[in-house]
Amino acid sequence: QLIYLDGDFVKKEDAKVSVYDHGFLYGDGVFEGIRAYNGNVFRLEEHLVRLYESAKSILLEIPYTIEEMTDVVKQTLRVNSLQSAYIRLIVSRGVGNLGIDPRSCKGASVIAIAEPLSLFPAELYETGIEIVSASSRRNRSDVLSPKTKSLNYLNNILVKIEANLAGVPEALMMNADGYVAEGSSDNIFIVKDNKLITPPGYIGALEGITRNAILEVAKERGYEAVEGVFTRHDVYVADEVFLTGTAAEVIGVVKVDGRVIGEGIPGKVTNDILEGFRSIVNNDGVK
Ligand code: PMP
Repeated sequence: QLIYLDGDFVKKEDAKVSVYDHGFLYGDGVFEGIRAYNGNVFRLEEHLVRLYESAKSILLEIPYTIEEMTDVVKQTLRVNSLQSAYIRLIVSRGVGNLGIDPRSCKGASVIAIAEPLSLFPAELYETGIEIVSASSRRNRSDVLSPKTKSLNYLNNILVKIEANLAGVPEALMMNADGYVAEGSSDNIFIVKDNKLITPPGYIGALEGITRNAILEVAKERGYEAVEGVFTRHDVYVADEVFLTGTAAEVIGVVKVDGRVIGEGIPGKVTNDILEGFRSIVNNDGVK
């Protein structure tokens, strides 16, 4: 496996960053998780726009143009002979001194890692998953916007730990006011009377590329699909619940905090949306 590291492809064992990198010292940087299906990179442009916007919001200059970054992603797939893969793009503030001041950093560091996918086990797409709500809260939108996909993922990690402690694959994160925001690394949709609702970005959700694709798929398939603010109560009494993300795609949720959702199996809207999503991923990417 070859990793792209600041202009070179290096073996996985040799792909190392300095302990003085501010990405390591302070979580000072941004990242993207991207997916390729059969040689097509799904919505690469949207991912790169989000990456550059995340970087801009933290005053981090990415030393490449979007076109150069597009090439980095494609080359990383090519040199690893990968057709279907998960790609992680990382831009950190780079090597500086021990102080927090980013002015000591000589320049951003760019890393791309492509790997075969590791997904939820296939049977979970059939059975659906159980989740719990976490006590950790999403950071407030007026502090560091959840739209910024930064290397600071501590609250997401605390949410994942709460899921682990409960013995379930994912947990739900509320914002400071108690409204449902998202999972530790995926967005949430509820379905009520055939209408799909997902929290708006300002509530504390990352505007997921998958989520946005699902809003389109749903409308194409004749559903009403909107952004809306909701609470845990609305999740408990929804007809269907599902999570979306680059790695997870669309996965049904059948139990939340012990409350069985719908019939306790992924519902027909969820399955319809998953089928619609799978049909676009193979012919919607960049060659
Ligand atoms: N929320 C968070 C916090 C995430 O890290 C991710 C994964 N990038 C998502 C939602 C899903 O976004 P996407 O569909 O772009 O992968």
